[in-house]
Amino acid sequence: MSLARHHLEELKAISGQNGWIDRPDDMQPFLIEPREKYQGTTPLILLPDSVNKVAEIVAYCASHKIPVVPQGGNTGLVGGSIPTTGGDEILISLKRLNRIRDRDDHNQTMTVEAGCILSDIQAAAQDMDCLFPLSLAAEGSCMIGGNLSTNAGGVNVLHYGNMRSLVLGLEVVLPNGDIWHGLSGLRKDNTGYDLKQIFIGAEGTLGIITAATLRLYPYPHEKQTAFVAVPTPQAAVDLLTLARKISGGTITAFEIIPRRGIEMVTRHMPGTRDPMTQAYDWYVLLECSSSLNRDLLDLEKVMERILTTAMDGELVLDGVIAKNQAESDNLWHLRENMSEAQKFDGGSIKHDISVPISAIPDFLTRAGNVVADMIPGARPVPFGHLGDGNLHYNISQPLDMDKQEFLGKWPALNRKVHDVVQEFDGSFSAEHGIGRMKTDEMSHYKTKVEMDMMRRLKDMLDPDNIMNPGVILKKVQK
Ligand SMILES: Cc1cc2nc3c(=O)[nH]c(=O)nc-3n(C[C@H](O)[C@H](O)[C@H](O)COP(=O)(O)OP(=O)(O)OC[C@H]3O[C@@H](n4cnc5c(N)ncnc54)[C@H](O)[C@@H]3O)c2cc1C
Repeated sequence: MSLARHHLEELKAISGQNGWIDRPDDMQPFLIEPREKYQGTTPLILLPDSVNKVAEIVAYCASHKIPVVPQGGNTGLVGGSIPTTGGDEILISLKRLNRIRDRDDHNQTMTVEAGCILSDIQAAAQDMDCLFPLSLAAEGSCMIGGNLSTNAGGVNVLHYGNMRSLVLGLEVVLPNGDIWHGLSGLRKDNTGYDLKQIFIGAEGTLGIITAATLRLYPYPHEKQTAFVAVPTPQAAVDLLTLARKISGGTITAFEIIPRRGIEMVTRHMPGTRDPMTQAYDWYVLLECSSSLNRDLLDLEKVMERILTTAMDGELVLDGVIAKNQAESDNLWHLRENMSEAQKFDGGSIKHDISVPISAIPDFLTRAGNVVADMIPGARPVPFGHLGDGNLHYNISQPLDMDKQEFLGKWPALNRKVHDVVQEFDGSFSAEHGIGRMKTDEMSHYKTKVEMDMMRRLKDMLDPDNIMNPGVILKKVQK
């Protein structure tokens, strides 16, 4: 279906000069997601530069039942920011809505518009000698509106929580074009339902987030990064428990990496190298940080104490501690390039799962057996946020298998691995969301009560289903 020309012209007029794109070549980068799994079409991309323009656009679309797809940095991995191929959805990019509206040193908050890039927000917080703790490999291009809409996680969740914990207030354009002015900076406010939480993680299906008041923390000037070899995933879990107990709450990141992952990164990603001379089966990248000065808290000693205690208990076999920021960056590059490196090793089927931290070793064994039974020779590369019980359980293809044949098994393998996740009371989508990719898994694993509540919420706020239709909840014929 195509949209009537007069609608497109009206929408261009509302969005104003420099506020729209309709040339196919210019639109192309907005219409494909990072893994190239989703490619969509649209007759028009709108780039409003004020909340009032967003509201006017949405009101117009609501009155003409024109579906809209909100987009931030387009780094989402589940197809939620990409229109379908139907050609009747308008894409609204928030990238020009990118001002920092307010900085409040005493309240330790910053109010930013949805199109602010995450790394710009981190830098602005640092200018206040503060930390905005959300950190992920896509931080140079993802935007805070997208981070909120996916309830992004990243590497510091262990200490600071995910996006849901980092926001105090929101401004949202509702599906009828109304603006909800909820930009509160309050830490205590028990006046009924916490409405902002409805929009966090809603992936643009309940409204368009236009601004947020974010929580800041004292900047952790002291930091220790270590990369250690552990004999087993169980040892990694034991190391986490030990580190939590003796680090005085300073552990801020704890990531697990398998040998196969290190081999792929060092083979394919220029400038990376194995920091140890000997090969080990599993590694942990852990970081302690603190805003206390070294004379008050010597983090070097804290890290040394963690590692020597762990070595005495045979939880750690070998390790390096970064001596400076450059060495710390090099260790982090190994972790951050883990997904990218797999692209050079053939097809890779992804899972973004979480289970209770204590269940991770058993999950890895059970899931490994399931994968080997279904696709002999497939190569699991499970890595990620062990400190949050969240693994990117990626499976690289067998070396002798055709890539397309392997990728054709994606949904069936997902279901088998997610069944194992279910056995451990885990989640089939820990931090990347549902998008268009996991709607079948949603209806399969969520209970009828949960699905009914979500559908009723969606129907109440968006009765004509114009906000990112088909994302999170599959379209139903009425
Ligand atoms: C290399 C790489 C590493 C990553 N690492 C992590 C990680 O560690 N942790 C993690 O959680 N994610 C990770 N991601 C996924 C992705 O970066 C996050 O989901 C991010 O929060 C998406 O932000 P974005 O601005 O790119 O959103 P987009 O991709 O543009 O959109 C994501 C969803 O939010 C909706 N949306 C966007 N903006 C708005 C808005 N203003 N209002 C309403 N809805 C909106 C879209 O419609 C879509 O459904 C990674 C991605 C890549 C490519």
